[in-house]
Parts: sequence; C-alpha cells; structure tokens
Amino acid sequence: MKLKEGKEELDKISSSFCIAKWKQVTIHLENGLTHSCHHPRVHKIPLDELKNNPGALHNTKYKINLRKQMLNNEFIPECEYCNIVECNKNNEKQGIYSDRIFKSTDSWAWKYKDECITEVENVYPSYLEVSFSSVCNCTCLYCSPQFSNAWKKEIEKFGAYKTKDNSKSLKDYSFENTSKDTNPYIKAFWEWWPDVYPHLHTFRITGGEPLLSNETFKVMDYISKNPKQNFKFNINSNLSISDELFEKFIQELKTIKSEVIIFTSNEAYDKKSEYIRVGMNYNKWLKRIKRILKEIPNSKVSIMAAYNVLSISSFQEFLEDIWKLKNTKINDKYISKRILIDVPYITNPRYLSVNIIDNSFIKYIKENLDFMKSKFIEYSIPGTSKYTPGFEDFEIRGMERLIPFISEAKNKDSERKDFKIFIDEHDKRYGTTFLEIFPEYREFYEMCGKI
Ligand code: SF4
Ligand code: SF4
Repeated sequence: MKLKEGKEELDKISSSFCIAKWKQVTIHLENGLTHSCHHPRVHKIPLDELKNNPGALHNTKYKINLRKQMLNNEFIPECEYCNIVECNKNNEKQGIYSDRIFKSTDSWAWKYKDECITEVENVYPSYLEVSFSSVCNCTCLYCSPQFSNAWKKEIEKFGAYKTKDNSKSLKDYSFENTSKDTNPYIKAFWEWWPDVYPHLHTFRITGGEPLLSNETFKVMDYISKNPKQNFKFNINSNLSISDELFEKFIQELKTIKSEVIIFTSNEAYDKKSEYIRVGMNYNKWLKRIKRILKEIPNSKVSIMAAYNVLSISSFQEFLEDIWKLKNTKINDKYISKRILIDVPYITNPRYLSVNIIDNSFIKYIKENLDFMKSKFIEYSIPGTSKYTPGFEDFEIRGMERLIPFISEAKNKDSERKDFKIFIDEHDKRYGTTFLEIFPEYREFYEMCGKI
C-alpha cells in the first residue's frame, strides 16, 4: 500500500483513525502500563478490568474510548507525535507522512482496517510487544527509572535531576508488582498467551534488557516448540550483556525457525554513543551485530536510532559504519536488506530532544541525507533478488522528518536551560566531561548556561 493512497483511505474513515490503536500494543508487565502505539504516554491497566479477562491487558476501557473517538473523527491529544507532522500541510506535499500512515499501512495492520470499524472492544493485537522486567544494565540518557532499574538505582542514590520538572523523579513512576511470582500482569499474560499467539503477525519483547529476564527464554522456548507460518519474532536488546548470556541468546535463536528481527538502539558514534548510552561498548556492539547476521540466517537487525540532541554531530560517522555493514557479503550475498536503520526522534525528555538545537546544526542532517541518498539501494535487475546494497527509501524518509521537526520548534529556552542542568549533573555523577567528548557543542552549551 502506497502512503498517499493509504492516507486517503484512512481519512475517508476519519482524519484521526489509526489502526495502531487497535492492532499494536506494548504492555509493560512488570508494572501494568500499556500504550498503543509507543508514542503516546503509557496508561495503567486497572486490575479490576483484568479479573476474568486477561485480554484487558490490551483492551483497557481507556483505550476502547480512544478508538471510539478516532472513529468519530475526534482530535486525539495523546497522538501529538503524529499531529505535529500532519498539521503542517507542506509535509504531505513533500511526501512526508506521519506514523499514523506508516503504521496503519504496514503489513501487520492494513488488512484489519475494516474489522477495526466494527470491533472496538475485544481486539486481538497483531503486533504485540511486552516487557517482562525493567532490569537493565544500562542508563541511556533519555531513558527513565520506569524502564531501567539501573536508572532507578541511580535516582535512589543521587536523587532526581533539578530540571524544571524534577526529571527522573521516582514519584513520577509506578513500581508496584515487580516481583515475578506475585505479579498479576505476568500471570494474566501467560493465561492470555495461548489465545493471542495464533493471531500474532509479530511478537516483540522489550525491556529493560530482555535478555536479563528468564521469561524471555521461556517464551522463546514456546515459540521454538510451536512454530507457525507468517510470524515474526522480534526482540530488543542493547547487545551489551555478558559474553555468556550473549552466547545463550545465539544458541536459543538457532532453534527458532520464523523470521527473527533483533532491534538494537544506537544513534551516535563511538565515545559519543557511549556517553549517550551509559553501559554500552560501541565496538563490541558492532561485532555482535555482525555475528548475529552471520550465524542466524533467518535474522535481520534493525537499528533504532533514538535521535536526540547529542546525535547530530557524529551521526555521519555512525551512518558510515551502518553503510559498511550493509555493504558486507555473507555466503556471497550482500546483507544490505538484513541491516536496517529507523530514525525516530525522541520528544521526551524535552531537554534532550533534537529540536532544542539552533538551526545552524541542520547542516549536519543535510549532510547525512546527501550521504544516504548517494547510497540509495538499487534493484539492478527488477523482479530478481539481485541488487546493489544501500539505504532503503523508508530509511531516508525517517531522516527527512527531522528537519521540519527542528525548524518548526519555538520557545526553546526552558528546555535549553534544563539541558545544561542535566548534563552538568550527569557529568558529576559519572565523572565525565561533556565538552571533552562533544567539543563542537561548546557554543550551544554555553548559550544554554546563560539562560
Ligand atoms: S496516530 Fe500516531 S501516535 Fe497515535 S497511535 Fe497512531 S501512530 Fe501512534
Ligand atoms: S538499554 Fe533500553 S531499557 Fe536500558 S537504559 Fe537503555 S533504553 Fe533504557
């Protein structure tokens, strides 16, 4: 389905209708939070709705109400991420579409379009993402105590950051039900799982770091023993776990016959990447990606670049590493289509969002775009699987969305002030010096300090 036609078809139903609100769900089983899709804030799954109905893990009354509002053509405030893109009509003229269109026209969503109009309450997702635990070995800057217990430990030790809204404060998150033995959400998941599994196009495990949870290996085992057609097993990993655990993961992956996609995040190069993602080793991360692609032939690796204000200056070198991977041959075949990059930009916390930067930094993004376009994938023999390696259309479009997002932002002072407060405090806690790693940000950093 082409994006333009997809948008026209969706808009005939309603200009806020988005299939992701029905068919895509992320459920944080460690604390009972959910959202459809991943852009809006999470909301709590009420335990009384879960009694006798494990499907309420996805079909909360709150979400059912949103689906009804979408069908009534009502504005959905929690869908800000897409609203911003769609409000600017120039975007559409330039072929830039919101995730409402990208997601709804995806293969896991589009075929359910008509079904969504008639069924809003008892919906089985086709794209199910769960986290079993928030145990993690990293403290990526944009993440939070809710998703990483390493962040929780840091805040317990040092307190929240003294930004305008007391960033990362433990008061803002829900931590109950973290024991896996008594957790009602994990119990409901295992009750629901045999019913929902046959409906799944994609099952994805997120975290925390999923490989630090035994439930992950239990569910991988189930999938391995119950293979099904047209099914994708996806898993997030920071690929920064111990050598032993990585080895166990590789061996378990070898038993799964479905298509496997490993999602791993990164959005900067080398030391800058390690500053943004505390706990990762950039070179080890790259080597592990190569090993997966080599040893798991039914696998793809998708790099999620959580593009943020600190990604800008080294994104070119990072892209060049991705390009080298794409240009590699395994068993005499280019692996270009097995290593993909998606560029969602972060909007929260606002002080790390790329749109706090001044427009002079847009030149870096233009350079990235020129590079990607110069390496555009070419299907040299149409109708055959032969091609020259390169970046796909959707990868380039993801990057293009950054420019309007930066240039349209206004009143950035409060976020810039918070940026300086956060970075200085973070340096103090981790013994780092921001300007040694990011000297090209000096002018911007000093300007933030003067606000
Ligand atoms: S409209 Fe956008 S933000 Fe809302 S559910 Fe769809 S894709 Fe997500
Ligand atoms: S690896 Fe994932 S869960 Fe852990 S801190 Fe980073 S973003 Fe958060």
